[in-house]
Amino acid sequence: MTLNITFDNSYARLPDRFFSPMEPTPVAQPGLIRINETLARELGIDPAALASPDGLSVLAGNAVPDGAAPLAQVYAGHQFGGWSPQLGDGRALLIGEIKAPSGRYDMQLKGSGPTPYSRMGDGRAWLGPVLREYLLSEAMYALGLPTTRALAAVTTGETVIRERRYPGAVLTRIAKSHIRVGTFQYFVSRGDSEALQVLTDHVIARHYPGVDGALGLLNAVIDAQAALIAGWMSVGFIHGVMNTDNMSVAGETIDYGPCAFMDDYHPDRVFSSIDSFGRYAFARQPEIAVWNLAQLATSLLPLMGERDAAIEAATEAVNRFPQVYADHWLARYRAKLGLVTSERDDPDLIQSLLDRMAHGQADFTNTFRALGTQSAREQFADPAGYDTWAEVWIARLAREDATPDTRRAAMQAVNPAIIPRNHRVEEAIQAGLTGDLAPFHTLTEALQTPFAEHPDLASPPTEGQRIKQTFCGT
Ligand code: AMP
Ligand code: MG
Repeated sequence: MTLNITFDNSYARLPDRFFSPMEPTPVAQPGLIRINETLARELGIDPAALASPDGLSVLAGNAVPDGAAPLAQVYAGHQFGGWSPQLGDGRALLIGEIKAPSGRYDMQLKGSGPTPYSRMGDGRAWLGPVLREYLLSEAMYALGLPTTRALAAVTTGETVIRERRYPGAVLTRIAKSHIRVGTFQYFVSRGDSEALQVLTDHVIARHYPGVDGALGLLNAVIDAQAALIAGWMSVGFIHGVMNTDNMSVAGETIDYGPCAFMDDYHPDRVFSSIDSFGRYAFARQPEIAVWNLAQLATSLLPLMGERDAAIEAATEAVNRFPQVYADHWLARYRAKLGLVTSERDDPDLIQSLLDRMAHGQADFTNTFRALGTQSAREQFADPAGYDTWAEVWIARLAREDATPDTRRAAMQAVNPAIIPRNHRVEEAIQAGLTGDLAPFHTLTEALQTPFAEHPDLASPPTEGQRIKQTFCGT
């Protein structure tokens, strides 16, 4: 199939034990949901060609584009802290690596049929998770945070059986790579140091050219993850399944399962139906990242020379995380509060606002967006909590040079007006299930400009609209 995509499949050139060559399983009737035209053009792909019958065949897995080398990647991982020695692409396939002007990107189909790693699964996805991932990953991108992207979504004309029958769908995902902490764990757990070295060299060449060996790679991933997670924490994002197999070594948000953006703020917030113990609650994300990065560090030890010295160096690297993370977090929250200069008490000022927001059940997004206005105090169940904080904040602002207008503009550029609120995402999915994709398209388009005003989409859910749990939907 000719789509004029330039592929260069570096992962497919790695040794056989890194993957299983595999073609997608064809579906009954591909149907277009949405093509991400802007992203297609950035990748050097003609959006019209993608939307053509030939393009839809590729997006649904009924044809493999010329130059691609489809395969299922193998990996392992800690899921909720428990070790799974063999995972892998069970419902996804790496179709090939696109060589675009801005770099190399995996093109992956999610929901493309069974693979040797499907275990008991059917290898398929239904419409709900596909629309969710499209909406949330593109929203994340527009918020300026590193993430995999959605190039397209199609329906399959087939039924997927979960707790009931649902229409099947396939998402085309674009990522810097799909190499995970769990990919390293897979090889080290098998004592395969040769593969570990090959993987390390591959990841360095691909994502962190110039870093010095396994320790250099570890430090680079730590920096990337610290920046990423501080980004999540600045927009109220809860990943929900921060297993080591869902942590990308490229530092992108990956695996949009039961993830969610918070409405009213609480540090202990959990949405995932499978996270019964709150392991992946909002405020725990930085410490879970450390836990995952310690697994990466352990995996890389065999490549780091003499064991005691290696352990010491790896420990020192992982121990850097809290400070690197705190610096990113502080920079992001200073900007959210309109602060340009640094003062020693700024962390307390920020934390004090968050504590009051938790106590006052204040909406995360709308509070920051409206800081300094009547509308911010109205977010609080106890506006006095906001008022006493705002006095200190206003005194702090008085020691800044910026004019109110400049400050307001700067704050509006970092505090989004809209996020993909759960009830809106759910509404788009429910409409999609009845064949009405208009709410999905409207929401997708609005979320491309989250820093502009969208009054129709800014409201938190009413009590009846509130979504308390989100599901993997696998
Ligand atoms: P996740 O929780 O989505 O990260 O998936 C964990 C593992 O389960 C991965 O190896 C997936 O490929 C696999 N998996 C999830 N859903 C399915 C499915 N419907 N069919 C086959 N494998 C699946
Ligand atoms: Mg996963």
